[in-house]
Amino acid sequence: MQVYCNSLTEYSRLKTLEVKIGDLLLGNLHPVRVQTMTTTDTMDTITTVEQSIRCIEAGAELVRITAPSKREAENLLNIKNELRKRGYKTPLVADIHFTPNAAEIAARIVEKVRVNPGNYVDKKKFEQIEYTDAEYAEEIDRIRERFTPLIKICKEYGTAMRIGTNHGSLSDRIMSRYGDTPMGMVESAMEFLRIARNESYHNIVLSMKASNTLVMVEAYRLLVNTMFEEFGECYPLHLGVTEAGDGEDGRIKSAVGIGTLMEDGLGDTIRVSLTEDPEFEIPVCKDLVKRYENRIHQSHVKDLLNNISDKLHVRNSQRSTINSQQLILPYNPFEYKRRHTHEVNNIGGMLVPIVVADFMQKEKIAADDLKAIGYTYDAATDKWNIGDSAADYIYTADKLLNFHLPGTLKIICNAKKWLQHQDLSDTVFPLFEGVEYLDVVEKSSRENFIAIDVNKIDKNIKQKIFDLVATDVTAVLCLYSSNKHSMADVRRTVIELMDHNLKAPVIISVESNCTSVDEQLIQFSAEAGALLLDGFGDGIWLMNDPKKMHNTKLSGRNYIPVTNNHQFLNATSFSILQATRTRISKTEYISCPSCGRTLFDLQETTARIRARTNHLKGVKIAIMGCIVNGPGEMADADFGYVGGAPGKINLYVGKKPIKFNIPEAEAVDRLVDLIKEHGKWAEPETDSTPELTGAH
Ligand code: SF4
Repeated sequence: MQVYCNSLTEYSRLKTLEVKIGDLLLGNLHPVRVQTMTTTDTMDTITTVEQSIRCIEAGAELVRITAPSKREAENLLNIKNELRKRGYKTPLVADIHFTPNAAEIAARIVEKVRVNPGNYVDKKKFEQIEYTDAEYAEEIDRIRERFTPLIKICKEYGTAMRIGTNHGSLSDRIMSRYGDTPMGMVESAMEFLRIARNESYHNIVLSMKASNTLVMVEAYRLLVNTMFEEFGECYPLHLGVTEAGDGEDGRIKSAVGIGTLMEDGLGDTIRVSLTEDPEFEIPVCKDLVKRYENRIHQSHVKDLLNNISDKLHVRNSQRSTINSQQLILPYNPFEYKRRHTHEVNNIGGMLVPIVVADFMQKEKIAADDLKAIGYTYDAATDKWNIGDSAADYIYTADKLLNFHLPGTLKIICNAKKWLQHQDLSDTVFPLFEGVEYLDVVEKSSRENFIAIDVNKIDKNIKQKIFDLVATDVTAVLCLYSSNKHSMADVRRTVIELMDHNLKAPVIISVESNCTSVDEQLIQFSAEAGALLLDGFGDGIWLMNDPKKMHNTKLSGRNYIPVTNNHQFLNATSFSILQATRTRISKTEYISCPSCGRTLFDLQETTARIRARTNHLKGVKIAIMGCIVNGPGEMADADFGYVGGAPGKINLYVGKKPIKFNIPEAEAVDRLVDLIKEHGKWAEPETDSTPELTGAH
C-alpha cells in the first residue's frame, strides 16, 4: 500500500517545486492560484481582452486562451499587448491541442503554454492497437523529437508549461498498454515529463482532469506517488474537474473533486470548469481556496521545523512519511472500494448511501414540509408521490410527527424522546449522543444511531463505544467533527474502525457555519465528498443554521435564491452522492465550459437539453462545443451532442458518431429520438418535485 500526501489524518499541505509564470510564483507552498479560461474567439482581440479583464477583475491570477492554430497563436501577441496597454499584467496561458506549431509560436509570446500529451503529437483514432516494446519505444522517440523544440523555446523565453492530461483524450499508445485508467493518465504525463527533465527543463505544472471525480482523484494521487517514486520530488499540481456542467451541480462536482484533493493538502492552482461565463468560475475557486488559507500557515511552521532534516539532505523527507504510512493504511486510496459494513435495516452493506434530512431546527413539522425533501402528499388519492431525490430518514430531535409518513421515510429522534414512543418501532429510531450510548438501558431492537464528535470525544470513551459497537448489529455511527479540518478527523476515525475490524455503517455528518450558500455548497461537497470517494460513507447528513446565513443566493447568472433550506440540504446531499457516483438519482450532464472553438451557444443549449431530459435518472449526456476535442472529452457519456460545424450538430452514442450535420434548430429533438431508439427514454412525470436552486 502506498500513499501520496503528507498526512491522511491531519491537514498538511504538500510542498512542490516552484514554478515561475511571468511574475507569478506557483507551487512551493505559495498561495493556491486561481485561474480560468476565456470562451471567446481568439481572433476577436477586443472581445477576448474584455472578457479576460472581467476574469482578472473577478480575481483570476492566470487567464488561459485557446490557440487551435498558428493564426490564433500569433494573435495572442495582440491580446497580450492590448491587456498590457490597459494596465493588466496577469500571465496568459495558451491552450494547445494537436498543433505543435501553434505551441511553438505561443511559447514565444505568452507566459505559459498548456499541452495535452494525448493529442500533442498523437492523433486519437480510438483504435485499440497492440504495440510491441520496440514500437512503443519508437513512439516515445517520435514524441521526443516533436516535443523537444517546444521545451527549448520555453527554456529560452522563460515560459512555463502545463502538461495537462485529460481522461477522455489518451493516445492510442497509452490506451493499448494501460487502458482508459488513472494509471494511463499518469503515464501519459510522465512520458512528457521525463523528456522535459532530460532537457533540464523544470518550469512545469501538471494536471490529471476527468469529469468522473473518482477517476480524477485517483489519477492525481497516483501522479504524486509516481513522481516521488521516480524523481523524489513533485511538480506543482493544477486541479480541475472537466466538463462539470453548470449551476449547483457543476459547483458540487468541481468541489467534490478539487476539494477532496485540497483536503489531502494537494493543489497549487485550481480551475473550476463551469458551462457559464468564465468570470463566474472565480468566486467558486476563491471559496475553495479560502477554506485552506488559514491552514497554510501551519504547514509553513511545519516546513520550518522540517528544514533541519532538509539540511541533512533528506531531499525526499515526504517520501519517508509516505513509506511509514504504507504500513498502516487499511484501504487503498488509489482504487475506490466501499468499506465493508454490515446491513442495519436499509443502511450499509452494498445498499446505496442513505440521506438524512435534518429538521432539528423546525419547531413544527407538517406534511407539506416534506415536499422539500422529495415527498408530495396528494389529498385526493390520499397518497404520497415520492421523487427520485426523496430523503430516507428525517431527524426530528425532540419532536414526533402527527401524520402518517410516506412508506419510505423513517424518523430519527433523540433517545429520550424515543423512549416514550417505542411502539413505533418500525419507523422511529433513537439517536444517542456519544457517551449516552454507554449507559443505555433500552434501545431499538432494529436500529440505533450513535452521534460522535470525533474531535471532542475522550479517547477512552471512544474505545468503550467501539467495544460495544463490535457486538451491536443495530449500531449506526453518525460521525462528525468540530475540528476545523474535520474531514481528516473523521477519516482517522474510520481508519480506526477498520483497524478494529468494526463493520458498523457510518453516516457522514457535516455541519456548516458558513454564512453563504456558495460556501456551504463547497464545504459540504469537499468534506462529505472526500470521505465518500474513499469509500467510507453509508449515508450523508448535512446540517446548517439558516438563521446564520447572510447570503442565500448562489453566485452566477440566472440563479434563484435558496428559499427553502431543507430543500437546499436535501438536493445538495443527493448531488454530492451523484457527483461521487455512489447513488444516482438524476440525469448527469457532462458539458464543456466552452472556449474559442465552441460552435454553438453552450449555455443556452445545455439549458434546452436539460429541460427535455432532466427526468432521465442515470442517463449521462455530454454537450460539447466542438468536434476537435468534444468526442474525446465526453468520457463515459451515454449520448453526445457535439458541434460538428457552424450551425451543425453531430450526435453520438457513447463515443460513436451516429448522426451528422443536423441543423442546430432540430438537434435537441433528434437527440431525444436517439435516446428513445436506445431504450433510455421515459416520459416525464407531470407532478415532479421542483428543482432546488437550479438554473434556468
Ligand atoms: S470541447 Fe468545448 S472547451 Fe473543449 S475545445 Fe471543444 S469547444 Fe473548447
